[in-house]
Amino acid sequence: MTSPFNQRAAAAIADADLKEALKSATEKFAGLRQKAFESTAAPLALRAKAREIREHTFNHLDSHLETLFRSLEKNGVQVHTAPDAGAAVGHVLAIARAHGVQSVVKSKSMASEEIHLNHHLEAAGIQPFETDLGEWIIQLAGETPSHLIAPAIHKTRAQVARLFAEKVDPNAGDDPAELTNLARQTLRGEFLRAGMGISGVNFAIAETGTLCLVTNEGNGRMVTTLPKVHVAIMGLEKVVPTVEECMTLLAVLPRSGTGQKITSYFTMLTGPRSAKEADGPDEVHLILLDGGRTRHLGGAFQEAFHCIRCGACLNVCPVFQTVGGHAYDSIYGGPIGSILSPMLRGLDAAGELPAASSLCGACLEVCPVFVDIPRMLLEMRSARVSRADASLPERAAFRAAGFAMRHPALWEMGQSLFAFALRLLAKKEGWAMGPLRAWTEKRALPYPPRETFRARWRKREKILAQKKNASPDGAPDEKSANAGAVQKVRRALASGHGIAHGNIPAPPAILPEVAVPDAPARFLEEFAAVSGKPRRAKDTEAAREYIIEIARRFPDRPVALSADLTLPVAEWLFEAGIETIAPADAGDDRENIARAGVGITGCAWAIAETGTIVLYSGEGRPRLHSLLPEVHLALIPEDRIIRHLSALGPRLQEVLGGAPGQRPSCVNLITGPSRSADIELTLVEGVHGPREVHAILLPAGGGASGGSAAENGSPFLLEEE
Ligand code: SF4
Repeated sequence: MTSPFNQRAAAAIADADLKEALKSATEKFAGLRQKAFESTAAPLALRAKAREIREHTFNHLDSHLETLFRSLEKNGVQVHTAPDAGAAVGHVLAIARAHGVQSVVKSKSMASEEIHLNHHLEAAGIQPFETDLGEWIIQLAGETPSHLIAPAIHKTRAQVARLFAEKVDPNAGDDPAELTNLARQTLRGEFLRAGMGISGVNFAIAETGTLCLVTNEGNGRMVTTLPKVHVAIMGLEKVVPTVEECMTLLAVLPRSGTGQKITSYFTMLTGPRSAKEADGPDEVHLILLDGGRTRHLGGAFQEAFHCIRCGACLNVCPVFQTVGGHAYDSIYGGPIGSILSPMLRGLDAAGELPAASSLCGACLEVCPVFVDIPRMLLEMRSARVSRADASLPERAAFRAAGFAMRHPALWEMGQSLFAFALRLLAKKEGWAMGPLRAWTEKRALPYPPRETFRARWRKREKILAQKKNASPDGAPDEKSANAGAVQKVRRALASGHGIAHGNIPAPPAILPEVAVPDAPARFLEEFAAVSGKPRRAKDTEAAREYIIEIARRFPDRPVALSADLTLPVAEWLFEAGIETIAPADAGDDRENIARAGVGITGCAWAIAETGTIVLYSGEGRPRLHSLLPEVHLALIPEDRIIRHLSALGPRLQEVLGGAPGQRPSCVNLITGPSRSADIELTLVEGVHGPREVHAILLPAGGGASGGSAAENGSPFLLEEE
């Protein structure tokens, strides 16, 4: 009898659209990933460091959880632990009912998928809106995600177009940019109306009680800023001890997942808004889901929790590439899903998944934290076979194999006999009987090699020994061969293209960084590379002209201004007859800010290595100014530019560890405009957040006082970089 997985796999293989969608997406992802890691100084060392962090975290998870709880409480975040899905759903519904919530907006959260939250919300009369484009597509289609980071990877653009025409707008075309814009227009109103926002969590930093989201579309920021109540749901594996360690994981997650150095948004949330902040939720809740996880702590599969959900192992897995995510019939598909699903749902429900692997090892090779999936797949297969309820023939077969493997002579004899038998049957279809028939029904076995591996190995050893004896100075020959091998390994380690296969190098105490000799120049270069629009201002007049030029592109729409501007922008715009929304007026005037064509902010820091603008929320610095308008323009004094992402860690540690009421409720790292590639991996800019991000680089100090930059001897010119 064909197993349920095989039945689903057979249906998937017969689906030509699925085949096309999977091939194009997984190939693109794999190529982007490789390029992104090449932009680091020592990719393998970086990954080894990330692995070390995950391993260490889980070896001391109890104390990190304690610290996290303490920090969250200090920040005013209400924590609810949920032993299972029912308890987690119960917490969400109780919070929603307490606030009379009728609709919720959700950003991507695998934990919420795990507990089937949408179904329960709908049953309770609460309308959930998925707002990640891929998640919205599958919500409209009534399906489940088929990939960890690209939920609609299984759909072609034509299928999405048909779906939108049927469910959203009969006139919808099939251009990904148009379809994305349709999602932006349709969901904008829901963001502004919803009583509650529900998000997942990528990292929860224990030392500061900070919940972090890694997103691209801007919907994560909307969900955690606009509704008055924010509920975050996470499995306990999302804990990270410190800000600094979080920065290391941030350096590998987007590179491995989407092939980006950093996503458009990295959002760090520390709790409800303070009395001085104009926007942000009044209440923040964290639901910490166990859902079967603690059963596996300290066990053979604990390593699966090291996973940071980048999805890279799915993209390189030959089984996933062929059958897609739905064949796994689980929220978590692909190689890591074949481990996580049986762990969380039990071997009865998902025990056949570990067999859905060729054990080729590609998953381990690409994993940014070296999760040894092949080892766990084998152990899980073994656990399933040793169970009393495994079928008798299955147990007998594995026992016989185990016995033979423990007796080398018997094993070798068996190999020879087996190879002989296979040679007789090779190239013949449909020869197997009973449950083995499926193996030969539609394919013929290739001829087995004439020699076994052991025989070839012995031959090789013999040849090497002969060569050595024949050499007048055998030792130097071997030495040079060894030296060559060492060189090869050294090159692989340095370039990061080595294959780990369980031998993970020890990371250096200090990770090497790429050289950034000229930080402002590098910032401008990187900012342009992520579709940002950078300028350098030679003087305040040049900056004034450019700001007015941008504002005039949106006639009859106001400009929202933050209070941290180092130039008299409000004055300039007033003189030019352009309406402004001053920070003091802003309050929670979301409709008005949504009307703004341009939002202008200063910045706390800017990062040269990634072209990132860092914003702290606070008095006069609303989060919405960089989120709702069509264009976000940031003024960046040159002395706020730091070279590397890692250098931001200590600065963030200081600000996030500040006293309650003093620390920002939100820190955003913004790298280019909002973007999505959820439709056939076609990149579209301007999803839920700004369509354009501009940066004007100002002389140190921001040019606010002491005359123009030119007078201060600045070499800057206003020019498009
Ligand atoms: S197991 Fe590794 S490669 Fe797979 S999703 Fe997790 S972190 Fe990524």
